[in-house]
Amino acid sequence: MSDRKSHARGPRCPICNEPTATATRPFCSRRCANIDLGRWFSGVYAIPVVEPSEEDLDALESLAQSGESDGDERD
Ligand SMILES: [Zn+2]
Repeated sequence: MSDRKSHARGPRCPICNEPTATATRPFCSRRCANIDLGRWFSGVYAIPVVEPSEEDLDALESLAQSGESDGDERD
């Protein structure tokens, strides 16, 4: 028996902390993978708005301007 280390310690499912399964790494099961995906998506939409830095504002401004000049022609 030489593969006992496969059960010793290894990555654990970030959802339920069970040992991960190779097929569904880094999760223990597809269910947990889906849970994480759902959390991730809801997390994305739930991220609080951080105050943009001056650099970000500059980028946004140039974006807005390039967009404006495009839609400026319609009257
Ligand atoms: Zn799990």
